[in-house]
Amino acid sequence: MTVFRIDVSTAIFLYIMSSLLVIFVLWIFFEKKAVLPKFVRPEADVWECAICAYTYVDSTHHEISQCPQCKSYNKKSLEERLL
Ligand SMILES: [Zn+2]
Repeated sequence: MTVFRIDVSTAIFLYIMSSLLVIFVLWIFFEKKAVLPKFVRPEADVWECAICAYTYVDSTHHEISQCPQCKSYNKKSLEERLL
């Protein structure tokens, strides 16, 4: 077939690029899977501090909550509320 006139270097380049893309997609997929179960808990309002990454529960506040560790205010992100 004259359509697939690809030389060896182009074939290797495409092979490496496609395998890198697969690894990248899988990495994003598993990264999201590892993070999500922490937030998908409707009974407990779990907050993660944006400053010190401290995870705590605050069911009295829904928009803005104060971190008990570093006293900074955390705002619920939109994508988190949509879950
Ligand atoms: Zn904090």
